[in-house]
Amino acid sequence: MKKVKVLEDKCIGCGACVAVDPEHFDFSDAGVSKVISEQNVEGNATLQEACDGCPVGAIEIFDGCENEKCTCNPCKCEGECKCNDVEEK
Ligand code: SF4
Repeated sequence: MKKVKVLEDKCIGCGACVAVDPEHFDFSDAGVSKVISEQNVEGNATLQEACDGCPVGAIEIFDGCENEKCTCNPCKCEGECKCNDVEEK
């Protein structure tokens, strides 16, 4: 399933993505963007606009794992979930 992540070491905290797509982005305590929702990523034009509009290319939409219980946020599994050992809470 499609997932989204912010490359925090690239983000300059300009706020463009937060303005364009507040459903998916907000500022972290460090003043950079963070992903706040993994829902409604697939085919989302607003999210794509935020991604395309990032001046430093810090937003990536990628094929994440299919595990709905995946605990990564944002998902870092990139195809193969590494959260299988995590017990349900
Ligand atoms: S648009 Fe890019 S640089 Fe600006 S806050 Fe969002 S992720 Fe960071």
